[in-house]
Amino acid sequence: MLRRAKIVATVGPSSSDIKVLEKMIKAGLDVARVNMSHGTYEGHSEMIAKIRQASANVGKEVAILLDLQGPKIRVDKLPTPLVLQEDEEWVIAPSSKAANYPEYAGRLIPTIYENLVEDCHDGARILFDDGLMKAIAVSRDRDVYKIKIEVGGTLKSNKGINLPDCEVSAPAFTDKDRDDLMFGLKQQIDYIALSFVRKREDVMLVKSLLHKLRMNIPIISKIEKPQAIDAIDEIIKVSDAIMVARGDMGVEVGNHLVPSIQKLIINKCNAAMIPVITATQMLESMTENPTPTRAEASDVANAIWDGTDAVMLSGETAAGKWPVQTIKMMEEIVIEAERTPKERPFLRKMDLSNVNAAVMVAASMISEKVEGKFILSMTESGSSCRKISMFRPKTPVLGVTNSVGTARRMCLNWGVRPFQIHEYGRDDFNFQKDVVNKVKSAMGLQNGDKIVITRGDGKFFARGSSNSVKVEIIKDMPKVLGSSDVVEEASDYQKKIQLDTSICASCQNCISTCPHDIWGISPENEHQTIINKDKISACAMDMACVEACPTGAIEIMPLT
Ligand code: PGA
Ligand code: MN
Repeated sequence: MLRRAKIVATVGPSSSDIKVLEKMIKAGLDVARVNMSHGTYEGHSEMIAKIRQASANVGKEVAILLDLQGPKIRVDKLPTPLVLQEDEEWVIAPSSKAANYPEYAGRLIPTIYENLVEDCHDGARILFDDGLMKAIAVSRDRDVYKIKIEVGGTLKSNKGINLPDCEVSAPAFTDKDRDDLMFGLKQQIDYIALSFVRKREDVMLVKSLLHKLRMNIPIISKIEKPQAIDAIDEIIKVSDAIMVARGDMGVEVGNHLVPSIQKLIINKCNAAMIPVITATQMLESMTENPTPTRAEASDVANAIWDGTDAVMLSGETAAGKWPVQTIKMMEEIVIEAERTPKERPFLRKMDLSNVNAAVMVAASMISEKVEGKFILSMTESGSSCRKISMFRPKTPVLGVTNSVGTARRMCLNWGVRPFQIHEYGRDDFNFQKDVVNKVKSAMGLQNGDKIVITRGDGKFFARGSSNSVKVEIIKDMPKVLGSSDVVEEASDYQKKIQLDTSICASCQNCISTCPHDIWGISPENEHQTIINKDKISACAMDMACVEACPTGAIEIMPLT
């Protein structure tokens, strides 16, 4: 059973052993997320090398997603955790200014964010550690803000701070993000994710930087700020993919709004034909436990039914006790959910004025009708595969490409499995036959199975130009005379007639060509052609049926 929606899993200390990574890949990991909020360059480059090695060992491509931290506001390093109690008054200040205010020593919360005091206003909510602790801004005193604790707790170093009521002035793409991106490009990562995107311009800035560098890396915009939800249509237009980042989103807008925002964003991405990842706390309890809660299993299944392209794991696989089991569990839930797909009729009404999109949709409909085993999409940039994926074809798609980058990026596309061809051929009939033979043996296809091939008519692998659809019946051609898999055979004193039923396409050309009634249809199976054995003495041996047979399944031999 092939899973269609993809699994993104964050790597970290729990998944840093290459054997564990191999098991995760075998269990279903498609995209490995490297979170730049933690760790060092040295650690990340080791991790990336291990993922590539594990992927090569297992023989399955994996995409690497570099997740940039963005303007995440955090508590700075604390010598000891701070105990915050309800109704207490504290102050918050950038660490660089804290030393100037000895009068607040002992009740000062230092932050790494330089502009917090400028961006804050009286009455604004200040949330700590994913909203577990809550304070209200009371009044500003020079470089510090006085706050009153509403919900207390123990605050540790580096915990996140959210300011849902404030316009955060920090750019969405920070200096650290720029350095991290340059690091990632050198490591040949496949996707980048931008955190705390607020508007279209945040994405455009990174897009134009990548353009200047001549790097064609897709950008995933993480939607986690209320401003981004308001600007979602504009952000989708310029993004290559979207992540519903439910962690910070839940803190900023309230958890009760997350499910409906998730559905809204998924619908918009489906309509815009870009992939969408549903992220955060999907199997959270598996960080500690070997099985998830019912609510978590339902959450994963519901994201599939909402129409998400991928589901994501964070702490579960980065720092949890059961990284491999979590992926196995996710795989099982997704496969089960996909057995009962929700009808999504609007997908079938999408804009097909684009030739490429129209061809891909035709291919998936043809494949459905002829019960094709695979759609083979010959692609250079992967754009044909992305289009067919958004149509949610019933037939699994093999994205056949000679580019390793394209093969890896396909790992995020719903229903698409990369199939890399190493030799490069151009517009070459034999090359296409060669590809079909490779697919036949790799995917265990049988003679008589049908596959649907889409390709451009210029180059074999052509960027976004697939304009033809072909149905191919798997067969051994050219047929070797007297091959051993003949199933139907009849002879009289002069001649022998054979029908190789393993390659017969049941086209019935032989039946309509023969005036002697030698060919017929099996009474048990209307798709099986048979020889009417009692009629063969009437055969004139004019070979009309042999010529009419498109697959070379018939042989007529004189007996001497
Ligand atoms: P993060 O993003 O894990 O980088 O914070 C995901 C989220 O906020 O849900
Ligand atoms: Mn986040």
